[in-house]
Amino acid sequence: MRILVTGGAGYIGSVVAARLVEAGHDVVVLDDLSTGHRTAVPGGCAFVEGGVREHAAAVLAGGIDAVLHFAAKSLVAESVARPELYWSGNTGASLALLEAMRAAGVGRIVFSSTAAVYGEPDSAPIREDAPVRPATPYGASKAAIDTALAEHARMHGLGAVSLRYFNVAGAYAGRGERHTTETHLIPIVLQVASGERGHVAVNGTDYPTADGTCVRDYIHVADLADAHLLALEHCTPGEHQVFNLGNGAGFSVREVIDTCREVTGHPIPQVDGARRPGDPAVLVAASDLARSRLGWIPRRPGLHGIIADAWAFHTASAAVGGPAA
Ligand code: UDP
Repeated sequence: MRILVTGGAGYIGSVVAARLVEAGHDVVVLDDLSTGHRTAVPGGCAFVEGGVREHAAAVLAGGIDAVLHFAAKSLVAESVARPELYWSGNTGASLALLEAMRAAGVGRIVFSSTAAVYGEPDSAPIREDAPVRPATPYGASKAAIDTALAEHARMHGLGAVSLRYFNVAGAYAGRGERHTTETHLIPIVLQVASGERGHVAVNGTDYPTADGTCVRDYIHVADLADAHLLALEHCTPGEHQVFNLGNGAGFSVREVIDTCREVTGHPIPQVDGARRPGDPAVLVAASDLARSRLGWIPRRPGLHGIIADAWAFHTASAAVGGPAA
């Protein structure tokens, strides 16, 4: 297939683009490089630099069978401070993409949705039929796109899949997390391990969990990529399907830091701090649906292995002077 990957210079988009190329697909990456890196775009992909709103129609007119849509803004705190950027950059741009797909007769899309659409869940693990009630503009901007996909499927025959990611980590084929503004736990802890930061702040120690810190479900980026390739095959005209992607196992912030100590051999100083606004206590996926309907089997579910891959990427990119901060 000839596939448009928006956001294919970013962390997750570039890993999926690499897997698509390996699987023999013809890939066009569209990315404005606002947070991605040109060097992350896999060899063998065509590359168009620019925004979805401005450039998707022209790329789609060139003949595309399916779209994988990763391009988005994803800083939760920024979304609280500047919600308009998220309504425009996420929801608005996605609506423009859907219009361009309809105009060009492109009928399949796999969309990067998020566990943030569920907000503070009533129970764990979270199934796909749990109430959607996002607690932040970031989550709301993605939930709105999920709704638009459902309606485009119902009214216009689109075949759409929303994949709701839990906490993605790890690295694949030289591609990993390297954000200029880093907010995610594992890369921050690895920066402490490598001496780029002095300590990690634990965001809240009074949550109703076993050790008082937040519990998350960490999934390897290569397993996440596998789910995208399967979802692409399972796009069905007129249907909007939703799948949660996680391993179904929760790890606390303290457990993650301890595992990073084991993997790296560094002491990793930590300082207990206040809660981060909007953080739910426990986010763990029920991913039975992805397993049964897509045939998805996570091959790297262990936290130790996920962190070991992230650490290998981190040390390699630091060695070549990559923008790891
Ligand atoms: N966290 C933390 N210190 C940090 C970064 C994150 O304690 O420097 C916590 C964060 O508050 C949350 C968990 O680690 O409870 C996972 O956060 P992350 O930003 O990686 O992912 P999120 O679950 O917010 O998508």
